[in-house]
Amino acid sequence: HELRTPISIIKGACEYAMKYEETPEERAETIGMIHRQADKMAGLVSQLLSMTRMEQGVENIKMESLDLGKFVREFAVQQHWSENQIQIRTPDICMIEGNAELLGRLLQNLVENAIKYSPKQGKVQVCLEETKEEIRLSVRDQGIGIAKEDREKIWKRFYQVDTSRSSDEGTGLGLAMVKQIAELHGGKMSVESTPGEGSVFTLHLPGKK
Ligand code: ADP
Repeated sequence: HELRTPISIIKGACEYAMKYEETPEERAETIGMIHRQADKMAGLVSQLLSMTRMEQGVENIKMESLDLGKFVREFAVQQHWSENQIQIRTPDICMIEGNAELLGRLLQNLVENAIKYSPKQGKVQVCLEETKEEIRLSVRDQGIGIAKEDREKIWKRFYQVDTSRSSDEGTGLGLAMVKQIAELHGGKMSVESTPGEGSVFTLHLPGKK
């Protein structure tokens, strides 16, 4: 469905343009639409490919020793996250075995969702904690929240709670990829949420004991 929709929009626009004489303005609009839909498909295809590669172990994923605290702080600066909107709390040092590129994708997805599903003035908290048992990286928002019956399903590929709200920007692939990245690191994801109040997405990584 997700690939078929942009394809049918593109085909429809082409058929219309072939059948009717369009004004230059209409023509520009049609081309713009085709371009946007093609972009969307390209994004979807590359995300699917990269997930399949991870799954099949084609992409040689190098795990290295890295300081997750430093990584999160630097990533926030690199992404230009405003300190006003996104508050970061990390211990000075938190060493893990991980892949920086994948962890960046995970964090970016969680923070972008936190912003996307929140009111404009909503605050987002990114918090890293280390206990004896585990290392937790959580992203907390004050957004719309997720109903209980959806909390299991959001991790599935292409699942979107409210397609009217998210279909234009999102693909429903983000959280499936987040889950995959957590598992590649020997960890798992969890979510807690109260509809109307907000959600907390947490990456749990094994502790050092
Ligand atoms: P999408 O591209 O639709 O954002 P995701 O896989 O990232 O896809 O998320 C799947 C669905 O989970 C979203 O469509 C949305 O309904 C829900 N969701 C994800 N993050 C949040 C959040 N922080 N608050 C509320 N709902 C969320």
